[in-house]
Amino acid sequence: MKLIDAHIHLSDTEYTAHTEELVADAKNSNVQALVSNSMDLETSIRTLKLAEKYPSTVYAALGIHPWNVNVLKENELEETLKLISEQKKNVVAIGEIGLDAKYEKIWDKQLMVFDKMLRLAETISLPVIIHSRGTTAQIVQMLPSYKLKHVLLHWFSYPLTALSDAVSHGYFITEGPPAAYSNGIREVIAQVPLANLLTETDGPVKYWKQPFNGQMTKPSFIRNVVEAVAEIKKTSVNDVAEQIARNFEAFFDVKLT
Ligand SMILES: [Zn+2]
Repeated sequence: MKLIDAHIHLSDTEYTAHTEELVADAKNSNVQALVSNSMDLETSIRTLKLAEKYPSTVYAALGIHPWNVNVLKENELEETLKLISEQKKNVVAIGEIGLDAKYEKIWDKQLMVFDKMLRLAETISLPVIIHSRGTTAQIVQMLPSYKLKHVLLHWFSYPLTALSDAVSHGYFITEGPPAAYSNGIREVIAQVPLANLLTETDGPVKYWKQPFNGQMTKPSFIRNVVEAVAEIKKTSVNDVAEQIARNFEAFFDVKLT
């Protein structure tokens, strides 16, 4: 069985001392791919190094997260865009990028950075991984004006009307450990076609409910996610895992080994 963690932050400082342990945990639990997302220039550089160190396991997604648009250093945006272009061959997606409604004071900057990242994704033809807290419907309306290769809405939670729009455009969503306990997320999983779904941990984000109980988030949590999806979709764990592995290969244009 080939399991996939399509959204984790291995470059996060909370994980720095645990990289070996996390990669070993992935191997031991059949998680064959970790798409490591970045938050800014520094984590983008670290992500590239991790992908180089763990080939065919860690895949690099580079970008600037909406939470960080207000603390960018001079030229950081330009340098990040340049790094992504130059390293295009070593990068599977631009992420994590997007818009967050909770950070409305920096809304204009969020829009500016998001637009620059989307334009780069158009130009160099890379998929995008999007954070859309409170902005999903708006983002799903915005995106068709860009020519994007593939779109992934990470941790899709609401509204369900935006889910059907997203699916009609061929976008993908990721769901993670809340699949095991959140009724809202379980409803999204019930509605989304399996062909548009990928699995994630979003680690080092912690999950306090059962069965995770606030322990360090690890790739092996993906097994719980796949089991929850199988239960909701009334199919087997094997079938879910197989479809998600296929989705991963198609979305990121990567062949699992
Ligand atoms: Zn994330």
